[in-house]
Amino acid sequence: MTINIRPEIEALEREIVAIRRDIHRHPELGFEVHRTANLVAEYLVSCGIEVRTGVGKTGVVGTLTGGKAGPTIALRADMDALPIHETNDVEYKSVHDGIMHACGHDGHTAILLGVAKVLAERRERIKGTVRFLFQPAEEGEGGARYMISDGGLNGVDEIYGLHLWNYQPFGQIGLKPGPILASADIFEIRVNGKGGHGAAPQGTVDAVVVSAHLITALQTIVSRDTNPIESAVVTVGKIAGGNNFNIIADKVVLNGTTRAYTEANRQMIKRRLRTIITGIGRAFNAGMEIDYEDGYPPTINDKQAYQKVFTAARKIVGKGAGEPYLSMGGEDFAYYLEKVPGCFFFIGSAPVGRDPMSVPHHCSHFDIDERALLVGASVFVQLVDDLLTVS
Ligand SMILES: [Zn+2]
Ligand SMILES: [Zn+2]
Repeated sequence: MTINIRPEIEALEREIVAIRRDIHRHPELGFEVHRTANLVAEYLVSCGIEVRTGVGKTGVVGTLTGGKAGPTIALRADMDALPIHETNDVEYKSVHDGIMHACGHDGHTAILLGVAKVLAERRERIKGTVRFLFQPAEEGEGGARYMISDGGLNGVDEIYGLHLWNYQPFGQIGLKPGPILASADIFEIRVNGKGGHGAAPQGTVDAVVVSAHLITALQTIVSRDTNPIESAVVTVGKIAGGNNFNIIADKVVLNGTTRAYTEANRQMIKRRLRTIITGIGRAFNAGMEIDYEDGYPPTINDKQAYQKVFTAARKIVGKGAGEPYLSMGGEDFAYYLEKVPGCFFFIGSAPVGRDPMSVPHHCSHFDIDERALLVGASVFVQLVDDLLTVS
């Protein structure tokens, strides 16, 4: 396996790793990424890049105007951590109890800062503009939407983003055209029955029994309504109801999530969910309520943008660039891709010598092979070179 880390990135290795460890040590949640955003803004300024802070609440936007006119390419990193207590015993372990960079966003931020520095040094040769988007709140709150409504994408022609990916080993880059991550919606169903004595069910409406039928019926959305060669998930992850073994429950609350790779399947799931809930309620004489919350849309890569990343990735990792390890996870990068064409891709980062499945994202012992930072930065630099730099 030969990996061609770009020499300008190789020269920055210590700095990129040091930034990643600094951010890892000081993780921040959601929109509260004040220290990280400060660090980012100061670094960009030191590179001579024009900076706008407070974008999308706590995001930072850097604009690097090249020596000649041309298109605007946006590169994005997310900055937020997770409410997880780190169990790694490393010198850069989180100093904040219960908060941890367990998804790799510390690495994304370090990568993009390294890229910004390298590109700023050659700005005269850039034919166009590079926009650096550092966003807060990827983990659930949709920080991307706030960046967009605050003008983060104004004038942007194409956007690119990456994710360190422990499901693939170091040296691999995973990407594909079309859907690469799923939509992630949330629902709550409330089953309202009629309670009574556990030994006298006649005349009651048992919310537990109704829920059992409901959960079973919901399984058919994936097994019977979805084209078997496409992917979808309906998960009921939480159920709460009843008070005692001998009391018929009058109320059960169910919480779950749905996932789909296409907007059509997403809408189909939403429709079927409502139909089944209404039908089961009618069949058992129970009152049914549903709250359905649209989460992140599916992340769908543009074909041409995908091709551009693939070409750049091949130059860095050769045959290591190929099919991604797919999951039904969601990403708020999807919101950017709804507005402008672009591509989201995965940088294999499983710690060397470890089974890629043994250090998953969002776990308390998450860590990465830090050489993956250099791979990610090299792809971004190569991409901008291919698209904007004149030699
Ligand atoms: Zn995550
Ligand atoms: Zn993430």
